[in-house]
Amino acid sequence: MAELIVHQEKIPDLAHIADLCPFGAIEVNANRVSISPACRMCKLCIKKGPPGAFELVESRLAEIDKNAWRGVAVYIDQTEGEIHPVSLELVGKACELAGKIGQPVYAVVAGHRLAALTEELRHYGIDTITVYDHPQLEHFRIEPYTAVLEDFINRCKPSTVLVGGTAIGRSLAPRVAARFRTGLTADCTFLDMQPNTDLDQIRPAFGGNIMAHIRTPRHRPQFATVRYKIFSAPQRRAEPDGDVIAVTPSDAMLASSIETLSSHRKEPVKNIEDADVLVVAGQGIQRRENLDLLQQLADRLGGMVGGTRPVIEAGWLEPRRQIGLSGRTVKPKLIITCGVSGSIQFVAGMSGAEKIIAINIDPDASIFKIAHTAMIGDVCEIIPELLDTLAKGDKTHV
Ligand SMILES: Cc1cc2nc3c(=O)[nH]c(=O)nc-3n(C[C@H](O)[C@H](O)[C@H](O)COP(=O)(O)OP(=O)(O)OC[C@H]3O[C@@H](n4cnc5c(N)ncnc54)[C@H](O)[C@@H]3O)c2cc1C
Repeated sequence: MAELIVHQEKIPDLAHIADLCPFGAIEVNANRVSISPACRMCKLCIKKGPPGAFELVESRLAEIDKNAWRGVAVYIDQTEGEIHPVSLELVGKACELAGKIGQPVYAVVAGHRLAALTEELRHYGIDTITVYDHPQLEHFRIEPYTAVLEDFINRCKPSTVLVGGTAIGRSLAPRVAARFRTGLTADCTFLDMQPNTDLDQIRPAFGGNIMAHIRTPRHRPQFATVRYKIFSAPQRRAEPDGDVIAVTPSDAMLASSIETLSSHRKEPVKNIEDADVLVVAGQGIQRRENLDLLQQLADRLGGMVGGTRPVIEAGWLEPRRQIGLSGRTVKPKLIITCGVSGSIQFVAGMSGAEKIIAINIDPDASIFKIAHTAMIGDVCEIIPELLDTLAKGDKTHV
């Protein structure tokens, strides 16, 4: 970690020194210049300030007092009072991790008119739910939401913070992690807790060819983002439980240069992550027209069609249907892969499926290593047969 040092004696004039920083991190108090946590290490002050006044030095890796940070916190991603399901999946994981070290589970949520949402959250085993409910937090704006999460962490001092890998979470988590000068591991696929509260964070790296095992032993809190459908949502408990702390955000926290002029709900679309049955097109289907066969099978089983990356890149399916490392993670009850080789990058996005049926012409295809049922043959012959069988009402054969 690096640190910005101010050499006060090399600053001849304090009048415009604060203007050097576009993030307002240079502060002048009692004729002394200091750097606030808003510093983004952009080094503009070094380049544009008085020569030698600002210096970047590698700080010594001091030992953190881990006892000062306790518990596992989950940022609850919500829109218009609706909890994103990944947040509940993370609450389930947080309960498991915190249980291993006998520490509490926290949740933090920001927004407006959150009473019903907060009540719902009380059914998932969270010890304390901190709520920032304010009209100016109705729509996600990065500066106030960052300030809220920063405020929560300063109040609560959780050892670990879990954030969903949603559009909001991916934008929020790194900013807040930077404020605390701590580490963040994005898109974790496995999390575990050491007795000393170090979080084991595992994620695919180098194009999925290795699994990187990451720890943050000298900083707190430890941030991890996790995509939807990596973990399972916990059972909703009948009885509500846990404390609720309502915090009124200060004006400074709500300050933003973004103004929401209007917002519109997008037409709800069913995503492949939500489908119980997926029929997946790989390059082995050979022609775009053959997608019709897969769509018929998906329709017959009440499912959706997804694809491997080459199929998406060929423009045969829209990008949000891509399964895998650089696509989406799915966990359906049934997945039928059609002409898919089973690359590591593809498997990374679907290995959690309950039942995997693979159709491939090559008996040595990697996909058969993880498939529960192997169908060796031409996809264009096997699918019509499956459709025939289904048409005869013999669902058990599938
Ligand atoms: C950083 C990185 C990220 C990536 N992310 C993703 C990702 O998110 N998702 C993804 O899918 N890929 C991803 N890839 C690409 C990945 O490495 C593979 O290239 C890709 O998954 C292969 O797709 P496929 O199985 O459709 O094609 P292929 O590997 O070409 O396999 C086609 C299969 O079809 C079979 N076949 C051929 N004809 C027939 C037939 N008539 N009937 C039945 N079977 C037949 C063949 O035996 C073969 O096994 C990524 C790669 C990198 C480097």
